[in-house]
Amino acid sequence: MHVCAMSRRNIRGLTWSVISRLSGVNRLGRRRHYFKRELCTQEPQDLKQLFMRHLTSRIKANGPLSVAEYMKEVLINPVTGYYINNEVFGQSGDYITSPEITQMFGELIGVWCIHEWQQMGKPEKLQIVELGPGKGTLAADMMRVFSQFKEFNKAVSLHLVEVSPTMRQRQSEALTGVMTPEDTSVDNLTQKTKYGPEVHWHRFLEQVPNERSCFIAHEFFDVLPIYKFQKKDGEWHEILLDIKEGGGLRFIMSRGPTTNSKAFLTHISDSDERDHVEVSPESGTTIQKMSERIWDQGGRALIIDYGHDGTKTDTFRGFKDHKLYDPLENPGSADLTADVDFSYLKRCCGEDVKTFGPVTQNNFLNGMGIGVRLQVLMQNADDNTRKVLMESVRRLMHPREMGEAFKFLAIAPKDTGYVPPGFSPITCHNEQKSK
Ligand code: SAH
Repeated sequence: MHVCAMSRRNIRGLTWSVISRLSGVNRLGRRRHYFKRELCTQEPQDLKQLFMRHLTSRIKANGPLSVAEYMKEVLINPVTGYYINNEVFGQSGDYITSPEITQMFGELIGVWCIHEWQQMGKPEKLQIVELGPGKGTLAADMMRVFSQFKEFNKAVSLHLVEVSPTMRQRQSEALTGVMTPEDTSVDNLTQKTKYGPEVHWHRFLEQVPNERSCFIAHEFFDVLPIYKFQKKDGEWHEILLDIKEGGGLRFIMSRGPTTNSKAFLTHISDSDERDHVEVSPESGTTIQKMSERIWDQGGRALIIDYGHDGTKTDTFRGFKDHKLYDPLENPGSADLTADVDFSYLKRCCGEDVKTFGPVTQNNFLNGMGIGVRLQVLMQNADDNTRKVLMESVRRLMHPREMGEAFKFLAIAPKDTGYVPPGFSPITCHNEQKSK
C-alpha cells in the first residue's frame, strides 16, 4: 500500500481542519438504481451501420478526415456519439474512473476547493465548474463535503459543462436524488441539489457566467480531439483517415504539409527528437479560457488526467470492456482517448497565471490526507467494507495502478504566494510494499 501513514503533522493546517470535520459516513452499500433513458428507437447495430455510412460518405465527399474530426464524430455526434448513447463507466461499462472507485477521491478534491476558498479570503460567492462530469459522482462527493461547511455551502453554486444529454440525466439523478425524466438537454438548465446549492448545466465553457470559479476537470482533456502528425524526410505530414479497400477505415499520411500541420506545430522545436506528435488545440483554447478567467476574476483550476510532459508520441487508442481496442474498429462502440500533453497545457495558460505540478495522483492524494480519511471510514466499517476501502485506495495510489499515470495540475493567479495543498513534494517514511 503506497499510502503514507499520515499523522496530523503531515497535513497542512487548514486542510487538516477541514478533513478532520468530515463525517465518517461512507457511500458504500448505498445502491443507486439508474434507469436507462430511451434515447433512440433504433437498434445499436442499425446505428453503427448508419454511422459508418455517414463517415464513408463524408470522406467520399470531402476527402480524408483529420483524427480530430474523427474523434469528435465518434465521441459526441448528437445521434450516434459514444458519450451520447453508451453505458460508459463502471463495471458494466468500458472503463472505471477514480471517483467511481471511491468516495474519498471526490471528497479530497472538495476539501481542496474549501482550502483554496479560505486562502482567497472566503469570497461570498464561488462557482465550482466541473468539465465533463460523467455520472456526476465526483460532483456529488464534493457537494456532500461542502454541505458540512455551512459558510462555504452558502457561497457555492455548481456549474457543469456537459455535452451529452445521457450524462446530464445521470448527473441530475446523482445530485438531486430524483430519478426524473425531465428533459436535461435544454441549455442553461438549473436544478436544486439535495445538498442545498443549485446546479446549472452548460454546453460550452463560454456559457458559464464569468465570475470567480474553481474549475475541476477529471478525465476531460483526454477525450478532447487531437491531431496527429508524422515527420518524414525532415517535413511534418498529417495522419488522416481514409476508407480501406473493401470497407472500414485506415490511417494514411498526407502527401505534404497540411493547413493543420502548418498551424498547430509552432510549439515543436527543431531539437524535438520525436517523429510523431499529437496536438489538441481544443485543449489549448479551453485551458487558455480558464486561465484568462482566473486572472480576471480570481479562482483556481485543478486538471486531473493521464498524461506526459511533451515526450510521448503515439498514444491515440480505444477502450472497450476495460481493454485496449483498435480505435478504427466499429467506430462509436469504444471510447477514444489520447494522453494529455501537460507541457502544452502549461504553455497555453499564459503569463498571467501560475501553474503547480503536474504531480502524481499518489503525491496529491497523500498530501491531501487520504490516509487519515481512510482511517476514519475504516473505523465505521464492517470487515467486508474495510476490504473494499483498502482495495480502492490501493488502486488509486499504487504506482503500477493509477498512482503515477494520473497527474494533477493546478492553476492560480500569478500573485499567489504559496503552494496549494497536494502540490508539495511528499516524502513517504512509512511505505509498505503493496500486496
Ligand atoms: N469526469 C468523469 C467523466 C469523464 S469521461 C469521471 O472521471 O468519471 C468524459 C466526460 O466528458 C463525459 O461526461 C462526456 O460526456 C463529457 N464530454 C466529452 N466531450 C465533451 C465536450 N466536448 N464538451 C463537454 N463535455 C464533454
